[in-house]
Amino acid sequence: MRNNMTENTEKKQKVVTRFAPSPTGFMHVGNVRTALYAWLLARKYNGTFILRIEDTDKKREVEGSLEHILKSLKWLGIEWDEGPDIGGPNAPYIQSQRLDIYKKYANNLIEKGLAYADDTTEEELDVFRKKAEEDKIAFLFRDHRPENPPTWDGSQSLRFKVPKLKRYTWTDAVWGELSAGPEALDDFILIKSDGYPTYNFAHIIDDILMGVTHVMRGQEFIASTPKYLSVYEALGMTPPIYATTPPIMGEGGNKKLGKRDGAKDVLEYVKEGYLPETMMNFLALLGWNPGGEKEVFTKDDLISLFSLEKMQRSGAQFGDDKLDWLNKEHMKMMSEDVRNAEIHKWLLKNPEISKFEKLNDEKLMPKIYPIIFDHISKWSDIDTMVGAGELSYYFQSPQLDKEKLVWKDGNITDTVKHLKWVIDTLQNAPENNFSSPDAIKSLIFDYATENGRGQVLWPTRFALSGKEKSPDPFTLIYILGKEESTARLANAVKTLS
Ligand code: GLU
Repeated sequence: MRNNMTENTEKKQKVVTRFAPSPTGFMHVGNVRTALYAWLLARKYNGTFILRIEDTDKKREVEGSLEHILKSLKWLGIEWDEGPDIGGPNAPYIQSQRLDIYKKYANNLIEKGLAYADDTTEEELDVFRKKAEEDKIAFLFRDHRPENPPTWDGSQSLRFKVPKLKRYTWTDAVWGELSAGPEALDDFILIKSDGYPTYNFAHIIDDILMGVTHVMRGQEFIASTPKYLSVYEALGMTPPIYATTPPIMGEGGNKKLGKRDGAKDVLEYVKEGYLPETMMNFLALLGWNPGGEKEVFTKDDLISLFSLEKMQRSGAQFGDDKLDWLNKEHMKMMSEDVRNAEIHKWLLKNPEISKFEKLNDEKLMPKIYPIIFDHISKWSDIDTMVGAGELSYYFQSPQLDKEKLVWKDGNITDTVKHLKWVIDTLQNAPENNFSSPDAIKSLIFDYATENGRGQVLWPTRFALSGKEKSPDPFTLIYILGKEESTARLANAVKTLS
């Protein structure tokens, strides 16, 4: 029942959501998930999604953050209808460019007697705080509200004068009814002495002016919600619907995933070769689930299925294994051509492999792509395969270790005999026997069974790959072709002789 009201509102009114990051560093999964939920809700109801940059805390600003935010959202496929780079009816979308607007509303509150200049010094504030501590009561500035505040000239901070000390009750789309008493209300700062508004004030003004209907943000904002509601009331405006997102927990489930806990920059996932579709799917499921067993969703599925009703309250757990599994599922949905092209691109980026001319061999490569695809769950696993020596033997003849060519209890004479038999058999086999690993198997398998599979198949495989672990010899012969395979087998005979 908890969300009937909020869902109905979504349907009646044009939904307007926003993502309002502060440019204080890279975007991690928590930020991006908030953006994703706000975007999904807007898209589901053909509403508007706004990107707004909240840069009013100049001390915390980190250079390059804005570009990083735009790049991360674009990679994921979260596109905005209004924002700093494209403008829109409520421009500008960077708060530091909207200072006059906040000032106007601040003056409006002053006129109503609901804001006052505060020239309390840091030292005086400290004294107030210490006193509250000694008295074991919460520090509230309103207990020290000056009787005759100076006229606000912009050089002092401007504080809100809480109009009514009362209990506020509101409906959170995820949490249902929430409420807090006067202890949650205070004369907080609207505009700082540096001329910039606080988050507490600026976001309210912007959400009002931009027509935001639904605000999604983390649990840390619940405690301040009564303050926001008292400002809406003072301005005579209706607050938006709040939808509180659950925390994201690290693997193991008991620690909140935060920037400091090593929550990764979302662009790191690009470097590791995850698909944006996977990230979107994965992040959507961190705190929301449409119900049922299905876990693989496309962008369109997510848009049509998303609802506030199915958002969870409890922490969602971030798991790398799940991410890898999901990525593989999305890779399977790619067309083979696109997938192969992507594998090729990653091989070209790898210095150990890109040097091989055979990388452009149009007969060889289509046979290698499926093998690679079988062994990876993200593109960077290709580099891991290369690092483990699992790919170079497709492109160059391996160095052979004489000892290792002979199967456990075998001997050189028999091994040479078997290798020569395989060479002869391959050389005399018609072309159509090379059309699949199975066709090649049918040439060799009976002989191997009669003479000991290890005795025949081990040296054959080792001669072709030079590795103790590699695909079976039939697959290797199929990939390398008759000529290259027989040459490598002959090389093994030479090594043993
Ligand atoms: N600028 C705030 C932050 O980055 C946004 C909070 C909100 O969405 O209202 O935490």
